[in-house]
Amino acid sequence: MKNQWIYFVVLLSIPAIAGCQSAKDSVNNKETKMDSIDNYPVKKTDEDWKKELNAEEYRVLREKGTERPFSSEYETLWDSGTYVCKACGAELFKSNTKFDAHCGWPSFYQSIDKSAVKEIEDRSHGMTRTEVVCAKCGGHLGHVFNDGYDQPTGLRYCINGVSLGFKKKE
Ligand SMILES: [Zn+2]
Repeated sequence: MKNQWIYFVVLLSIPAIAGCQSAKDSVNNKETKMDSIDNYPVKKTDEDWKKELNAEEYRVLREKGTERPFSSEYETLWDSGTYVCKACGAELFKSNTKFDAHCGWPSFYQSIDKSAVKEIEDRSHGMTRTEVVCAKCGGHLGHVFNDGYDQPTGLRYCINGVSLGFKKKE
């Protein structure tokens, strides 16, 4: 009887192990596109993100796209509150660090906390820039530049509005 049980358990485990293997493969494939997703606490497959995000959010957050300038409602929003990651909900920027950079994208001079975002060197499109991603899920947010001249930090976090959600201060 006991042996039968073990046989049954082993049989049940085979599809689970096979399932793990294919999930691991898709994560490995993604690394070329989304550099080392294993470093982020929120780990979801492309399929998961496709279900949770709309097409434009997926393109920007998961495929490092850029939204059209001046297309985000947040570009001209000056309400008090907190900007969060559209993908995982992590708090990323405070409204009191948002400024009008006239660049067409929501701009901030610092993140809510140094550990909230991760900065990665980006050599795509023949330029060297610093990419900003959500430290929790690895979602692409935008880039940070050293041209926030009149800001306290001298930095401009140029963020795609589509990568953000907004929690208005009550
Ligand atoms: Zn996130």
